[in-house]
Amino acid sequence: MKYLIFLLLLSGKLFAQSNDTLCKSNLTIVANEKKESSKIEIFQKTNASPNFEVSYYRCVWNVDPAVRFINGNITSHFIVNSATNNIVFDLSFQLVVDSVLYRGARIGFSHFPTTALQINFPTTIIAGQKDSLTIFYKGVPENSGFGSFVQATHAGIPVLWTLSEPYGAKNWWPCRNGLDDKADSIDIIISCPVAYKTSSNGMLVNENINGDIRTSFYRHRYPIATYLVAFAVTNYNVLNHSVQLGAINLPMTTYCYPESENSFLQNTNKVLQALQLFHQYFGAYPFINERYGHTQFSWGGGMEHQTNSFIVSTDENLMAHELAHQWFGDKVTCGSWQDIWLNEGFATYLSYFYFEKKDAAGHSTRLKNLGNNITSQPRGSVWVNDTNNVNRIFDGRLSYFKGAYLVHMLRWVLGDTLFFKGIQQYMKDAKITYGFARTDDLKRNLEEVSGKNLTTFFNNWYKGEGHPTYKVAWSNNKNNWAKIFISQTTSHPSVSFFEMPLALKFKKGAQEKTVVVNNTNNNQLFWEDIGFEADTVLVDPEFWVLSKNNSSIKEVGSTVLDEIKIYPNPASTNITISIKNPTAKKLAVNLLMENGQLVYKKDFATPGRDENFTIATSQFSRGAYLLRLEGEKFLTAKKIILR
Ligand SMILES: [Zn+2]
Repeated sequence: MKYLIFLLLLSGKLFAQSNDTLCKSNLTIVANEKKESSKIEIFQKTNASPNFEVSYYRCVWNVDPAVRFINGNITSHFIVNSATNNIVFDLSFQLVVDSVLYRGARIGFSHFPTTALQINFPTTIIAGQKDSLTIFYKGVPENSGFGSFVQATHAGIPVLWTLSEPYGAKNWWPCRNGLDDKADSIDIIISCPVAYKTSSNGMLVNENINGDIRTSFYRHRYPIATYLVAFAVTNYNVLNHSVQLGAINLPMTTYCYPESENSFLQNTNKVLQALQLFHQYFGAYPFINERYGHTQFSWGGGMEHQTNSFIVSTDENLMAHELAHQWFGDKVTCGSWQDIWLNEGFATYLSYFYFEKKDAAGHSTRLKNLGNNITSQPRGSVWVNDTNNVNRIFDGRLSYFKGAYLVHMLRWVLGDTLFFKGIQQYMKDAKITYGFARTDDLKRNLEEVSGKNLTTFFNNWYKGEGHPTYKVAWSNNKNNWAKIFISQTTSHPSVSFFEMPLALKFKKGAQEKTVVVNNTNNNQLFWEDIGFEADTVLVDPEFWVLSKNNSSIKEVGSTVLDEIKIYPNPASTNITISIKNPTAKKLAVNLLMENGQLVYKKDFATPGRDENFTIATSQFSRGAYLLRLEGEKFLTAKKIILR
């Protein structure tokens, strides 16, 4: 644990010197997110009944960070979707329910060891009816590893924090624990000894002290998943910053340990810059009517609690990653574990995007290192093919890194304008915004905006495994055109060919030109006008395509003269003229009758590559003709019979 924290701190400090540290820092984030999740039995995700939805929670909690204990009451506003006389919440069996109040009276309930808390109504509730109830409970929350409810110390001072992702909320409060329902809003009222302060979601609207108890009232008016509800309590110092996002001056609140105040004072400006950047490119900050915040805790990484990321330190990559989750994870939440990359791949990529804008010179090296990590193994898909395997869900190489590269390649395939427009549309798609999304929701929005069919792309890069290896064989012709032959092998049989645009940089001394070819078939031939005689070709020099061990081979150019073929002869409906390795920069084609009358003439202004063109002859009378080809000089003439 200490080692991980050390690495995080180190990566931030060393960033300027080594571009490799971003990848290491990301690995650390992965290690922590995985470690945390594996400790929670995530597959007992929910026992809540599907016959109701919660629209609002009012959470009242009393805690003391020096004592591992919680007591509180939760008022839930809900709507049942079919007539019923019971609904079932999730709540750990380790917590004791004292009573349930419904319309001013106590009602019956049954609490099962499965974590199901069944509420029994005295009469049947009809479908669509808005209703509410309050559950009073207390107890010592389950200790599930790094877990959902953690009591620790910092500098000898008690600290208490919650971290529910993915299914730990039920360990400390009664709720709907699944990844299928967000409350529209939440109020959180927490009391603790006056020596401490509480940090939670949304806006602190009131704080009062009564004797030796401090009560903080937080209000949040955006939809929120239960795993993103959190609080932390200790002797926090509170720092207030703000950042201009368009017309809005957004407050940024920091709750840090007193011993860390200098670090937060020095580094918070970095996350303010990231806020402006993400706001500009990925749509408005999702909780713009409220605020963003950092809360320090002692768990070895970060957690993207809504409006208030919990972070262990001011590591720059960690701050950017958790901030990015406010868009990708909090506003739009992956609707299935198969799609965890919609949270983690995007958050990882946005951190790379932040560093790309901040340190453009190191961008290629960071992408190269990221690619090397992913391609260190020949197999594995971004799509989680085994959701019963926690290590697979939180696999850093696949869900985080390859997911991030998938985002990067979408940007490459669509181009910046359509990519950012498409992502912004996805973020505000009424079907998923402030709700849950699947990969097909992303694909649909990107296709709508771009007009491109991305089925093959997602089949290859999301569902498919592995990556391509490119072999580029090329030569110059006398017109300084390059003849390029691209072949590809793949690292895994699930994909026989990766269809991608591919950048090729032609160089000679100070001269260089980059061309992008649309590589749609294996063993594909391209001609490109380079304009100088290159001696080197770099394959994908800016690392837009995830690939490995690419090679570029210059083939010794042919010195044969123009090889001209005119066929068929005799002809009936078409004459085809084929010129290999042309020397001419201009080409005139004249078809004459035997008496010298011109029946067809065409000038080709700038031939450079192998030329292949056809003259339609069905309209011409039958007989003998002369076909003349001229460049800057006479090339050839041939007698043609039309019959
Ligand atoms: Zn993350």
